[in-house]
Amino acid sequence: MNEHELFVIAAAPVNSDDELSCFLDLLKAARIISNIKKCRVRALIWGSNCRDYARHLAETTGLHVSASIQEELFASPRQIEAMVAAEAEKTKTYAVVFDHSILMCAVASAAAMSTGSRCITGVESIEIKGERILFNRAVFNGKLIAAEAEDDRRIFLTVTTGAFKKRDDLRVPGNGAVELLPAGASDSRMKITGLENISADDCGLGGADVIVSVGRGIGGEENIKSAVELAAIFKNSALGASRTVCDAEWLPYSHQIGVTGRTVSPRLYLACGISGAQQHVAGMKESSLIISINNDRMASIFSISDYIVVEDIKTFIPLLIEAYRKR
Ligand code: FAD
Repeated sequence: MNEHELFVIAAAPVNSDDELSCFLDLLKAARIISNIKKCRVRALIWGSNCRDYARHLAETTGLHVSASIQEELFASPRQIEAMVAAEAEKTKTYAVVFDHSILMCAVASAAAMSTGSRCITGVESIEIKGERILFNRAVFNGKLIAAEAEDDRRIFLTVTTGAFKKRDDLRVPGNGAVELLPAGASDSRMKITGLENISADDCGLGGADVIVSVGRGIGGEENIKSAVELAAIFKNSALGASRTVCDAEWLPYSHQIGVTGRTVSPRLYLACGISGAQQHVAGMKESSLIISINNDRMASIFSISDYIVVEDIKTFIPLLIEAYRKR
């Protein structure tokens, strides 16, 4: 690598096919930046099982892949931060791109602090305006977009899962290369010994024609029954939920739709009291018809909906059921 050359680094743990697929989305975001800045992309991956993935990535993308083989299943945030900061300093680096997880937000901000760089989290799109790149991120629950303009500092950024999808070939000319990095000492007192798939049951979401999906606006576990009743009106229907609802234990995680839940594309998606956060939308935006009910006329789910109902769901759902029954 030429030390005067400018790079964008895509950085993530890659230990499974799922993580590889997420990493390719990160590469997509890095590629957009590199095309604008006319610079090259490097890959930085880590994990206890990343060696073969590093080889695979180098062969299939032609990129320079730096890989840190960790002993632990998960590296600690400080370990990752030290490695990422060192890699960013090793070459001229315009930006380091991470996925928008809690861990990577912590790593990105710490690496930015330790290297005197800038941190932008939750980037959903990247565009060029005049001479400068703008990093767009949703604020105020997705109602506004903040456009952060680049300055002369290096940027550590997290990109929202699902916002950049690898659709085209990411291969660059060249054979690619793998560089193994030292693992670095773990300072974590937590030892993760394995991973368990928490649910294989998809609650019928996969094959449903109609999904009635509930968000925090449903107000409480006791109100879920009205959504169940509404779903029962339709043939081949299922009950979906936002993560907030599952976090609150109003429904099990097997109902969750979004980037960390199921991806669905029913003929009809009824979003009840869901704000429309990017992480939810990424899992349902391909639905054929989207109807959203929300008492906030500025709710961001409305921007991707075919029909909108500005109403309190607690009054609207019973009225809808009653009107249907009368028919
Ligand atoms: P809120 O954002 O609180 O919205 C509630 C909505 O209900 C508001 O729009 C409000 O106006 C409306 N409302 C309130 N009362 C009423 C009423 N009486 N009648 C009508 N409307 C009403 N989220 C997911 O859903 N799926 C994921 O897979 C997912 N993955 C994530 C991964 C990461 C790494 C992160 C950081 C977040 C993820 N999230 C995910 C969370 C996501 O960012 C949002 O926080 C979440 O989707 C918000 O859920 P919600 O719309 O139910 O709640």
